[in-house]
Amino acid sequence: MSRLLVIGCGGVAQVAIRKCCQNSEVFTELCIASRTKSKCDALAQKLEGKTATKVTTAQVNADNVDEIISLIKSYKPDLVLNVALPYQDLAIMDACLACGVHYVDTANYEPEDTDDPEWRKIYEKRCKDLGFSAYFDYSWQWAYDQKFKDAGLTALLGTGFDPGVTSVFTAYAKKHYFDEIHTIDILDCNGGDHGYPFATNFNPEVNLREVSAPGSYWEDGHWVEVPAMSIKREYDFPQVGKKDMYLLHHEEIEALAKNIPGVKRIRFFMTFGQSYLTHMKCLENVGMLSTTPIDFNGQKIVPIQFLKALLPDPASLGPRTVGKTNIGCIFTGIKDGKEKTIFIYNVCDHQECYQEVESQAISYTTGVPAMIGTALVATGKWNTRGAHTTDEFDPDPYMEMLNKFGLPWVVDENPATVE
Ligand code: NDP
Repeated sequence: MSRLLVIGCGGVAQVAIRKCCQNSEVFTELCIASRTKSKCDALAQKLEGKTATKVTTAQVNADNVDEIISLIKSYKPDLVLNVALPYQDLAIMDACLACGVHYVDTANYEPEDTDDPEWRKIYEKRCKDLGFSAYFDYSWQWAYDQKFKDAGLTALLGTGFDPGVTSVFTAYAKKHYFDEIHTIDILDCNGGDHGYPFATNFNPEVNLREVSAPGSYWEDGHWVEVPAMSIKREYDFPQVGKKDMYLLHHEEIEALAKNIPGVKRIRFFMTFGQSYLTHMKCLENVGMLSTTPIDFNGQKIVPIQFLKALLPDPASLGPRTVGKTNIGCIFTGIKDGKEKTIFIYNVCDHQECYQEVESQAISYTTGVPAMIGTALVATGKWNTRGAHTTDEFDPDPYMEMLNKFGLPWVVDENPATVE
């Protein structure tokens, strides 16, 4: 029995909201608030008569803490699910603290303006101290841990698929399969085809920033950074087949390196087709991925934001995407003195997702875990106070809900490993 405020109404939000409405015993009332209210109204209209959850809508600019505070004060939610963009994380966390409500998100903070001198100073020091150069890291949100504890509140960070489910898989492997985990390879395979020469499956700006950045992995207690796309492997994914995959930096590596004692190596790989990589390289070479504003005919434009306006809206890929995703983690380690390897993964079919919630599998595999994490905080099953990632809670109720709400998982006890 809870009242939820969802901020954002894009690809991931639309799935998360539909899933909350399938779980109306927990989410009795829900307000969809975003920058463009018409998108919230359109979704609310589609849900009318199909759910017992009472759905309302609102407009909010989530870059503005005061606006969020007045919305929270007028709607009075028990918790806020942030499925806007990572740029808004800190503003929404501040507003939640000011109003005494729990906070949930799917991606860790990164600044919209990476040229901001104040942010850059801290960023450059972190690059030097820690050895990875991604624009996002957990330090900003972990800095809220004590404040959330003191307020008796929970901030659940990163409950999408990766991060999110991948970290729950890790907690599950640790609880049920291993005495010690030595290596973790997180594999994210999208075997889907949308028929466009080039499109991104989630917000293009966030996606292209992530993919064009240097790769890095955790080994023997420190970060190793490598040029973008310089480590390539092939893997034969169950139900998808053989795919090329590339090592990327990814946010859950940072949390798992901190929270899994004795882990020796953590890597993250994502599959890409040659067409995607060629387009991305070309766009990067001509400066279209830049986040620095340029003057164009007397107007300031940010190249990557202009590119976003040209690319297909990820939310529109649903009807045309066919094929499956396979996302999971390969763990090696020791159980009862013997070496052990397991692969925990989920396979998700793009068209089945579309039939159910009018969305492709990338938004689906993020939106379902966003609902699950939110439900566990709302029902008090996950009630550790402070700012925590999903690997820090009991994985069992989350794993049960994955099976129940459309993302069933498999444990393969004899998988192929990645070289
Ligand atoms: P979209 O771009 O499709 O949607 C973003 C939504 O946020 C839009 O409705 C947008 O409004 C709204 N928004 C943006 N800025 C503001 C603002 N200042 N105030 C209010 N609303 C705002 O993104 P996605 O749905 O693809 O991604 C959502 C989140 O999920 C991102 O943080 C992304 O990083 C994360 N993600 C996490 C994954 C995981 O596995 N953990 C995987 C994929 C995504 P408008 O309609 O006006 O543009």
